[in-house]
Amino acid sequence: MPAVLALRFDPAVVVLSYLTAAFAAYVALDLAQRVRTPDVLVARTWWIAGSLSMGTGIWAMHFVGMLALKLPFLVGYDTAITLLSWLAAVGVSAIALRVAARETLTPTGLAVGSLSMAAGICAMHYTGMAALVLAPGIQWNWALVAASAAVATGASAAALCIFFGLRRLPRAWARLGQVVAALVMGAAVAGMHYTGMAAAGIPEGSVCLSENGLAGDNLGGLVAGATFALLLLTLVTSALDARSERRTNRLQQSLKAATTELHEQALRDALTGLANRQLLDDRLQHAAARGRREGVRLALLAVNLDGFKPINDSFGLAAGDQVLREVARRLQGLARGDDTLARLAADEFVLMLEGEVGEATLAQVAQRLLDALAEPMIDVPSAGSQPLRLSASVGIALYDGSGPGEALIAQADSAVQSAKRAGGNGFAFFEAHMQAGVREQVELARDLRAALAGEPGGGRLALHYQPKVAGDQGDVTGVEALLRWQHPQRGAVGPAAFIPIAERFGLIMPLGDWVIQEACRQLAAWRRQGLQMRVAINLSVQQLRQPDALVRHFEEMLAQHDIDARQLTCEITESVAMDDASATERTLQRLAALGLSLSIDDFGTGYSSLAYLRRLPVSQLKIDRSFVQDLETSADARAIVNAVIELAHALSLTVVAEGVETEGQAAVLRAKRCDKLQGYLFARPMPADELARWATDGRASRLRFSASVYAALDEGAGV
Ligand code: C2E
Ligand code: CA
Ligand code: CA
Repeated sequence: MPAVLALRFDPAVVVLSYLTAAFAAYVALDLAQRVRTPDVLVARTWWIAGSLSMGTGIWAMHFVGMLALKLPFLVGYDTAITLLSWLAAVGVSAIALRVAARETLTPTGLAVGSLSMAAGICAMHYTGMAALVLAPGIQWNWALVAASAAVATGASAAALCIFFGLRRLPRAWARLGQVVAALVMGAAVAGMHYTGMAAAGIPEGSVCLSENGLAGDNLGGLVAGATFALLLLTLVTSALDARSERRTNRLQQSLKAATTELHEQALRDALTGLANRQLLDDRLQHAAARGRREGVRLALLAVNLDGFKPINDSFGLAAGDQVLREVARRLQGLARGDDTLARLAADEFVLMLEGEVGEATLAQVAQRLLDALAEPMIDVPSAGSQPLRLSASVGIALYDGSGPGEALIAQADSAVQSAKRAGGNGFAFFEAHMQAGVREQVELARDLRAALAGEPGGGRLALHYQPKVAGDQGDVTGVEALLRWQHPQRGAVGPAAFIPIAERFGLIMPLGDWVIQEACRQLAAWRRQGLQMRVAINLSVQQLRQPDALVRHFEEMLAQHDIDARQLTCEITESVAMDDASATERTLQRLAALGLSLSIDDFGTGYSSLAYLRRLPVSQLKIDRSFVQDLETSADARAIVNAVIELAHALSLTVVAEGVETEGQAAVLRAKRCDKLQGYLFARPMPADELARWATDGRASRLRFSASVYAALDEGAGV
């Protein structure tokens, strides 16, 4: 057997081949991330492009490594066989990327993956060697061949483990990890290659039969250069893709967070963070359905503070808010994890319970709620040295397994009223005889809806008008529109009875819109009769809470009936104007911007801060009827009325006294220079045609009519 040649390698080319391997490994790790994208088409494109580029990288390492071999005769490589070895390298890469795209690395996945990758690498290497056709043939050292296969398997397994390990690292570390891993893997692949080369014994005096194939001094540099360029291109593309994917992900995440937050906010009470009406309705509906289906028990406890309004009135809104937050906190402390605690209105809370809710348990829960609220409120500022103490009334309603869940709220509400009638600071269970009230409300709401739709079953809605007269001369300065409802069975139903129902059943917007429309229509009709009139209408708090719709409706109606906005005044009760001050202020600013005059109704019954009042674009205060009533008998009432008139005049506001019934009251008010008077003494609220007759016939002879209305219009001081 002829002696074999001692193999010599060009060290520069060896280093180049190692760098090629390391670079290919680095790019491969990058690509493995790309093929994991959820977009199937993108993933597949990356898989094909990645296999080609990574395969070329591995193959180039091997080919350049072969070129590093220095043989004492001219060598060349068979083109077809070399191409075959390139294909093997691309195949290996395809397998590697496929495994890397998996969610997790199982032991079987690792074994199958690394064995098939090793088989591919060996196929590439030894096919590549076969492209060097020698005579006599290469004498193989089989132990080293086996060793090279083992190195290939180990390198592949290590590569897969490193890759899956990298995924768990934070991004900053992942980059460094990728560099280290690439250097290790490059070493492993190069190790396999040179072990494989060492296994080849080339007899002395061999000749190369493929010297006409791929050959040349610059071939190594050329292949390495082209490969580096290819890998670099792949890397840059991959990085760009990763960046845009990250950006998309970030965008998606922030969008998702924003929608969740919006959704959450829509279902939460802003002051206390408890569930709001909408969320409670939703939970109640589901719980009621579960109750019907699975017999799960369901109960509501409605909690209403006794005398909350005086707290607001005497300590201010901020203190009131603080009390409500503290109440919410205490109630929340008693609720179990899956109970729903909601705030429906100012001091109306509801606790919804599911599961073991027998009467005895519910009574215990109610008593615990009352005890918790009775603890002194140390943090809330109050008059004197005594801390504030609260009491509440609790109404309990149990779901009877039929009907809608909503009815339960009305039942708990009726029970609260019954507890309040019993003196408060206690609880009451809902009983069937209370149902009448609930049923009546539901029926009234249904009929009111029909009335608004103009259906025959709902009866007739109308506006009645009550004049306001000037204090000094007795001129009529305008009228207040008051809503009337002629019910088909019940007869005349007063607004005090049905406005709260409209508010509770979501009918106040359409009802308020109807009032605005009717007032504008009537103003236009009077104008055609030669009567230039000014009308004040009453606004509900819920209309103010929807400023966009309200302003739009005013604009439309003014335009449609060709009404000068100064002919309309909006009356807003004092407690409403002070509720949610900043939102109200914005809404009022918008109404004033339309040209409407604004008036504070029922003044004296709520709590107004002077500073706040000054910020509002109002032009009129209406002294509440209760003070006017006591004028002749109570020095206190006279003092209050006097103070209100002075305050109003100091703020350049007009003062109207409402509910003036006697000459005596009128005399006191005139003496105190009250600007306008309104009440039964002058006229009751009456239908439009009656008002027109009243304005022109003898009864109003004491009152000069239309001329003064024109005058007031120019004054711009409200109706
Ligand atoms: P308000 O705005 O304070 O209206 C004055 C109420 O006092 C009217 O009762 C009126 O009929 C009554 N009144 C007028 N003069 C006298 C008097 O000399 N003595 C007595 N004892 N009462 C007098 P009404 O019409 O029953 O309205 C009650 C409340 O219903 C109104 O109080 C107002 O807050 C509300 N309301 C009426 N119409 C509307 C409306 O169109 N929209 C809204 N949101 N609320 C309305
Ligand atoms: Ca009013
Ligand atoms: Ca009033």
